[in-house]
Amino acid sequence: MTRKIALVGNPNVGKSTIFNALTGLHQHTGNWAGVTVSCTCGGFSIGGQEFSAIDLPGIYSFDVRSQEEAVTRDYVRSKDFDTLLLICDATCLERGLHLLAQATDLLKERTEIHSLPQIVLCINLCDEAKKKGICIDFPLLEQELKIPVVACTARKKSGLKDLRQALASDPGLMPACSACPMCASCSLAEAISTQKLPVPFDPVKTAGRAVTYTKSDYRRREEKLDRILTGSMSGGLIMCLLLVGIFWLTITGANYPSSLLWDFFFGIETFLAQAAQTAGLPDWFIGAFIYGIFRVVSWIVSVMLPPMAIFFPLFTLLEDFGYLPRAAFNMDGAFHKCRACGKQCLTMAMGLGCNAAGVVGCRIIDSPRERLIAILTNSLIPCNGRFPLLLTMISLFFMGGSGFWTTGEAAALSGPTAVLTSFLPALALTAFILAGIAATLGSSWLLSHTLLKGVPSSFTLELPPYRRPQLGKVLVRSLFDRTLFVLGRAVAVAAPAGLVIWLTANITIGDQSLLLWFSGFFDPLGRLMGLDGIILMAFILGFPANEIVLPIILMAYLQTGCLVDMNDKSALAALLFSHGWTARTVVCMAIFSLFHWPCSTTCLTVRKETGSLKWTAVAFLLPTCIGVALCVLTAALWKIIL
Ligand code: GDP
Repeated sequence: MTRKIALVGNPNVGKSTIFNALTGLHQHTGNWAGVTVSCTCGGFSIGGQEFSAIDLPGIYSFDVRSQEEAVTRDYVRSKDFDTLLLICDATCLERGLHLLAQATDLLKERTEIHSLPQIVLCINLCDEAKKKGICIDFPLLEQELKIPVVACTARKKSGLKDLRQALASDPGLMPACSACPMCASCSLAEAISTQKLPVPFDPVKTAGRAVTYTKSDYRRREEKLDRILTGSMSGGLIMCLLLVGIFWLTITGANYPSSLLWDFFFGIETFLAQAAQTAGLPDWFIGAFIYGIFRVVSWIVSVMLPPMAIFFPLFTLLEDFGYLPRAAFNMDGAFHKCRACGKQCLTMAMGLGCNAAGVVGCRIIDSPRERLIAILTNSLIPCNGRFPLLLTMISLFFMGGSGFWTTGEAAALSGPTAVLTSFLPALALTAFILAGIAATLGSSWLLSHTLLKGVPSSFTLELPPYRRPQLGKVLVRSLFDRTLFVLGRAVAVAAPAGLVIWLTANITIGDQSLLLWFSGFFDPLGRLMGLDGIILMAFILGFPANEIVLPIILMAYLQTGCLVDMNDKSALAALLFSHGWTARTVVCMAIFSLFHWPCSTTCLTVRKETGSLKWTAVAFLLPTCIGVALCVLTAALWKIIL
C-alpha cells in the first residue's frame, strides 16, 4: 500500500526543496512567494514502504483568498491522504503554528469522509534561524503539541533522515521523538502513539515558550540593502542597470562559444555531405536533409544555446538571491496607477522565461479582474523563444557595413568609442524589454478602463530574506530545466517545419511553388509592415513555437535558390540582404518579434486558465494589433525620415 503525503506550508519555506530531496525530482524552487502555483506529485520509498508525495501551493492561511490557496485548502479538506507534512519557517515559527492550528481544525471537520491523517511538523530553514540568533526548543514543542516535530535545513540536506523516519513511523506503533529529552523512559511515547493530530494549543503562547532570540538587530543588514534596492530613486535605477548588465554579459559572452559551435557543426556538415555524395545519395536528399534540416538545426543550436546558457543562470541567480519581489515592489506604483496588481511584475518576470508559465503564474493574483489583466498582457514580454530572434536582429542592426547600411550610416554607427559600441546591443535589448513593460502597463490601463473596469485591490507581498544563491544548483538547473528544454523544443519543431518548408518549395501549383504562392499572398501586408511575405508566413508557421521563426525564414530563402554557408553573422546578413532586407526590415522584424500573437501553448494555457474563448481571442489579438500598428508606423516613418 502506498502511503500518501501532502506537503503544506507558508510560501517560500522550502516545501519544494524538501519535496525534491524526498522524491529526487527537480521541481523549480525560487526565493519568492508564489513559485509553486499548481500541485506536483512524486514517489519515493523508505525501507520498502512506498510513499507518494504531493507538493501543494504555499498558503498563508486556510481562509483562502487566491486560486492557488483554494487548491491547497480543497485538497486538505477533501482528499484522502495518510500524512500531512506541515513545513514551517524556523525564523517565524508563530506563523507556521497558526497554519498548523488551522490545518488541525480542517482535518477534524472532515473525519466523516476519510480516516484521520497524521500530522508531522517539519521546521525548516534552521540554518537561517541560527544565523539570526533564533533558538527553538524542539523537545518542548514536541511535548506541547504531541506530534512528531523535525528540525531541518533542507538546502544542506540536514534533518532529512529524521524527517524520513518520522514519515515512515506509523503513529499507531512508533513515536518519532528522537529529540525528546525523556526519550529513554518515554512518557511521551504513549501520548504520541495514539495521537495523530496535535492537542489543542495556542500558537502565540506555544511559539513564545519555544522560541528565544539572542540577537536584537538581526535584520539590520537586510533593511539597509532593502533601502537601496527598493528606494524610490535607486530602486528603478538599479533595476535598469541590472537589466543592461545581464544583457551585456549575455550578448558579449555568447559570441565566442557561438562561433565555436558554428565551426563544430559545419565541420560535421561538410563531412556528412561528402559521405552522402560518396554513398551516391541523390542531390535532393542531400539538399533537403543536410543543407536544409541539419543546417537549420545547427543554426538553432549555435545561435540559441550560448545566450540562453548565460542569460538563464544570471536570471536564476537574481531569483535565488530574492531580488524578484523587490522588483515587483518597485513596479507596484506604476501598476497601481494602471489599476492593475503589483504582483503582475512577478508574472511578467516568469513570462520572460516562458509565457505559458507566466500565465499559470497569474494564479498568485487574488482579484479575478487583475488576474485576467495579467493573463491577457503576459505575452507582451518576450519569452525565451523570442529572445534569440531579438538578439539576432539587434546584432544585425549594429553590424555596420554588412550591406544593411549606406556608407554614411555605417560611418555614423562606428563613430562611438569601442566600449560604448559594445554596450549598444545590451542597451537596445534593454530598450526592447522596457518597451514590452511599457506596452504591458499601457494595455493594463486600457483594459482596466474598458473591458475590465474596476479599482485596484490591495495585496500583501512578502519580501523574502536575501539568500546566497546556490551557484552549482542554479547552473545545472537553469541549463537543464530552461535552456535545454527550450532548445529541445525548438529543434523538435524546426526539423519537421524544415521538411514542410522544403515540400512547399517543391510542390507547385501552376508554374509557382506553394511557398511562393503563400508568401506572395502575404507580401502586400508584409511590405506595409516593413517586412515581406516570407517573414509573415514564418511568423504564422512559427505559431507552435516562436523559436523557429528565423530558421523558417532562412529555409524559405534558401529554397528560393540562394544557398549560403551561414557560418557567421556576416554570412547571415549577406543572405538576408540578398533577399531585400534593409535596416528598416531588421527594426520592424525586431518589433514584430516582440509584439505578436502568443505561441500555441500559451494560447491553450490562456484558454485553460480563463475558461473562455473570448479572453483567449483578446490575448491573441492584443499583442498582434500592437505589433502590426507599430510596424506599419515605423515603416512609414522610416520612409519619410531616412
Ligand atoms: P517553497 O515556496 O515553500 O516551495 O520554497 P522553495 O523550496 O522554493 O524554497 C524557497 C527558497 O528557500 C529557495 O531559494 C531555497 O533554495 C531556499 N531554501 C529552502 N530550504 C532552505 C534551507 O533549509 N536553508 C536555506 N538557507 N535556504 C533554504
